[in-house]
Parts: sequence; structure tokens; C-alpha cells
Amino acid sequence: MNHDIDIKKLRINCFRQSKVAGEFMLQLRVPGSLIEAKYLQIVQDIAQNWGNGTFHIGMRQTLNIPGIKYENIEEVNKYIKNYIHDIEVEMCDVDMDVNEHGYPTIGARNIMSCIGNSHCIKANVNTYQLARKIEKLIFPSHYHIKVSIAGCPNDCAKGHFNDFGIMGIAKMEYHQERCIGCGACVRACEHHATRVLSLNKDGKIDKDTCCCVGCGECVIACPTSAWTRQEKTFYRVTLGGRTGKQYPRMGKIFLNWISEEALLQVFGNWQKFSAWVMDNKPEYLHGGHLIDISGYPKFKELILDGVELNPECLVAEELYWTENEQRANIHLKPLSQHKKAGPKE
Ligand code: SF4
Ligand code: SF4
Ligand code: SF4
Repeated sequence: MNHDIDIKKLRINCFRQSKVAGEFMLQLRVPGSLIEAKYLQIVQDIAQNWGNGTFHIGMRQTLNIPGIKYENIEEVNKYIKNYIHDIEVEMCDVDMDVNEHGYPTIGARNIMSCIGNSHCIKANVNTYQLARKIEKLIFPSHYHIKVSIAGCPNDCAKGHFNDFGIMGIAKMEYHQERCIGCGACVRACEHHATRVLSLNKDGKIDKDTCCCVGCGECVIACPTSAWTRQEKTFYRVTLGGRTGKQYPRMGKIFLNWISEEALLQVFGNWQKFSAWVMDNKPEYLHGGHLIDISGYPKFKELILDGVELNPECLVAEELYWTENEQRANIHLKPLSQHKKAGPKE
């Protein structure tokens, strides 16, 4: 029976309790969501030898294997030792001892990412490489944090609903001499992005630089390479997004045009910030709630402590999140009670 089992300890080892008493689901971390296909053999072995023969692609891009009986967990932990070593130590350069007792913590959640510029034509950055660098800074730690990385502001990785949502952005360069005035970039920006381009009376492009989100749709659309991405790439970071039953909300922009070097320094401060809020006692409390408890000004002070921000970087002076109305259910009522506009029947 589950009440004889130390569920909390198993959760720390990345085994999730099943609705079937005595069964658990292993969650294998895949930081950056890209690994060699050969590791699918490990998933298959665990699923067929100890699980129920299925696997689930986790909502945080872990490889989940359900149906593992409690009495087999020790054996599974021995089996995944090499996987943890390959992925965490070899691939992500994480400084940790890997033993036969499985994952040491579930605190820092798997870092999600879209495929980024290893495949996607819209991407500005390599998402999985950044994820691996961040993994080294936040794992293993009992302090909770959710990070998601997208290669462009389209945010397919849903970073807006993570503690930290990272989006790769770039500054675009306009080569007027190559521009034939076709207007394709104007239409692309209007359709996909923020409508900041216009054709002027000379048939050349004017740009409202304030509201350019650095996505690169203009570059993709231009038939003459009159738009190109500058080589140095940057990141936009949203903060404090989350799902959940109590206070789901979308993250707000915390940093814009931050360099990779500075961004990694920010993540280097996460454990220090969490330790300060929790008085060095890591308990199960979501990262976003730590920010709420400290308040944004204190968070900003601690998370940017010693960080050398690049000159282009902009930081939110204040952040005002709005919770949604999930708790009040204020707009939820039977369809028949909804007010109707127009002629009455
Ligand atoms: S977020 Fe951008 S880079 Fe990533 S998959 Fe979506 S469109 Fe491609
Ligand atoms: S990079 Fe800027 S100008 Fe180009 S499409 Fe995106 S928002 Fe528009
Ligand atoms: S798509 Fe290229 S060529 Fe066409 S208007 Fe824009 S910059 Fe000029």
C-alpha cells in the first residue's frame, strides 16, 4: 500500500505516484529536449522490463515511464545510472556525483525548449545548447524553478507560463542598396509580428525600432537579403509565469536584449536568491512564489547581484502581474444566462 511508502523521497528521485497503489512513473530529464535517439532504447528497456510497456512524453518534455512497481524502483535506479551520467555530467557538464540511487532531486524542473536553430528557420538561437548551460547552473538543487527556452519570440516553448521564459532575439540590419521596395517585409511584419515596418515615398523601408521584437520575419520574407540578422544574438526573458490551480498567470517581460553571458550570470544567482527567501531550508515551494514572497524589487536586487549586464540590456523597473479570475469564477455561468446583444427574440 502507498501509505507504507516514502512518497516524498520517491518524488525527489523523480518517481511520481500513480493512482494505482504501489506503482510509480519515472521521469527521465532531457534538458533542452534534444538527445541522441539511442536513448530511446533505455526508455523501451525500462518500460518493457519494469513498467507497463508504455511511455509518455511529459508535459515538461521529460521521458516518462509509468507502471513501475515500488519493489522494482531500486533496480530501475541502478539501471538509469549511466543515463544520468551521460545526460547530466557528460552532456551538460553538471558537477554531481552519480550513484545507484537515482536522481538526487526534482527541485529544478526539466528545462524545456523548442528545437531552435538546429532546425527551425525562424530561430535566432541554439536553444538546447543554452538549456545545457543553464542546467549546469540550476541542477541538482532542491530549490524549485521552471525554465523554458524558445528560439524566437513566437514562444512555441510556452515560456510565458514558466518562472523564466527565454526567447532568442536578434537585431536586424537593413541594407538599403539591396532593397527593391517590394513590401514583402512590411507584410510579413504586419502578419507575424508587430507592424513596425512601412514603405516610404522613396520605396524604401522605415522602421519603428521601439516596437521591433527582434523575431526575424522580415529577414525570412526579403527576396534580396536587404534584411539580415546581426551576428550577436540576445534574449528576452519573461518572469513569473505559471499554471496551477490557485494563481495561474502569464509572465511579464523582465529583461530585454540581454546577452547570453549576462543571462547565465542571472541563473548563477538563482540558488542564492532561493536560499535567501527560504532561509536556507529548501521546501516544496514553486519558484514563482519565492519571487512573490520576496517582492520584485528584492528579487531584482539579488538576482542581478554582480551580474555584468551588456549595454543593450533593458531591465523592468517594476513588474505588475495580474492574476486571472480563476478563483472568483466571476464570468462563469450557464450559457442561457449570458447577456445577448442585438434584437431580442
Ligand atoms: S519558438 Fe520560434 S524558433 Fe522555436 S519552434 Fe517556434 S517558431 Fe521555431
Ligand atoms: S524583426 Fe522587427 S521588423 Fe522584423 S518582422 Fe520582427 S518585429 Fe518586424
Ligand atoms: S522585402 Fe526586402 S526588398 Fe522587399 S521591401 Fe522589404 S527590404 Fe525591400
